[in-house]
Amino acid sequence: MNTDKKYLYVESYVFPFKEDRKLLLYNTLNGDILEFEIRNDIDKIINELLKPENNGVIEVKDEEIKILEEFIEKLRESYTGDLIYGKKKPFIMTPILNLQSDVERMKADPSRSIGEKAMKYLKTITFYINSECKRDCDICGSGFKQFMFCKKGRGDKLGVEDIMKVIGEAEGSGLLGINIIGGNILLYDELEELTEKISKLKYLKQFYINYGNIIDYPERIKVFEDREVLVKVLVEPDFRGEDLKRALKLLYNLWIDYGVEFAIRDERDYDVVESIINDLKIEDKSELKPYYTGENIDFFRENVFTEKEDIKEERLDFKEINGRRALNFNDFGRLTILEDGSVYANLNNKRLGNIKDDSLYEIIYREMDSGASWLKTRDKVEPCKSCLYKYLCPSISNYEYAIGKFNLCRIRK
Ligand code: SF4
Ligand code: SF4
Repeated sequence: MNTDKKYLYVESYVFPFKEDRKLLLYNTLNGDILEFEIRNDIDKIINELLKPENNGVIEVKDEEIKILEEFIEKLRESYTGDLIYGKKKPFIMTPILNLQSDVERMKADPSRSIGEKAMKYLKTITFYINSECKRDCDICGSGFKQFMFCKKGRGDKLGVEDIMKVIGEAEGSGLLGINIIGGNILLYDELEELTEKISKLKYLKQFYINYGNIIDYPERIKVFEDREVLVKVLVEPDFRGEDLKRALKLLYNLWIDYGVEFAIRDERDYDVVESIINDLKIEDKSELKPYYTGENIDFFRENVFTEKEDIKEERLDFKEINGRRALNFNDFGRLTILEDGSVYANLNNKRLGNIKDDSLYEIIYREMDSGASWLKTRDKVEPCKSCLYKYLCPSISNYEYAIGKFNLCRIRK
């Protein structure tokens, strides 16, 4: 008589997610996604299987195997699990997501200030140094809330001293990059002093300027000559190709390192941009930023919305899935300081403070404590919080804010 026990298990490379009666198994080896409707009669057994303490293996009785037959067959066919016989429970160690992420642990630990520990998470600071600009682009005032873009304002400006004070406070943090943007930064009267100071820093330094402003102020652009900085050329839709060519030629002749960022609204913009990129041979220097105007949702549905196929192709590993569960990768570690000194973790969310009144520690503390941007994950927003894909989908981006809904996907309507 066979006295072996029977065990139902899920493979160690499979991530199981369950939401109500729906079960999703994500195969981290090939990105395959399996979805099951869990019947009433097996719901309890599946819940048991997914309990962290069971490590993805449970003993099952003969009568349970009978009702699990179809489920086990699907596991077997997809190489995501099976039934196994043995005297002892096998050790499989299915990685169950660690709910208490680093960040949560840090918040729970009262011994040191959150702000102090969180300084290591700071990665990029963007300074809007001024808000003056003589151009008049349609994108002005809305593009900057979707991606890095310049914007006009009431004429405020940040002083070099204020900027350097913040950078000084970030010494010893995880800071990697500094972005300088405006307005038209070529109209900033302390640009020479600022560039000289910033160019000596160890971080990646990027200065953002609209191509039209480069050709309008060709003398001022020389401030970047022989400096270790990168100039990012911003291009709005309906740009003048000849002017863009002239702007890039100017940078090229001065040996200034540059990249180009194009805002695109639709397929037509895409074709125009693609043609100029090929014409100027700047494929490796160019980035395309979809720009939501309020009237081009179809373009976003086609090109930006997440599909199951995207998630499959990404082949997320355990670390990435856990990361998406704990952090917002689009915002995490980023701060933006506007020309009046106000600080944001995301320009679409609440102001965190002002550099004139608050230290960087205090600002980061507030952000970590509120979790409003850096920790804004899909399990905190509707309708994603009840969706099977909430730990697999990319982090919430600025497009969700611009479009006004969080399910920018073709998975759940
Ligand atoms: S160049 Fe930038 S700041 Fe100037 S109007 Fe255009 S978008 Fe606004
Ligand atoms: S509803 Fe949210 S979590 Fe679900 S698939 Fe869509 S974007 Fe992803």
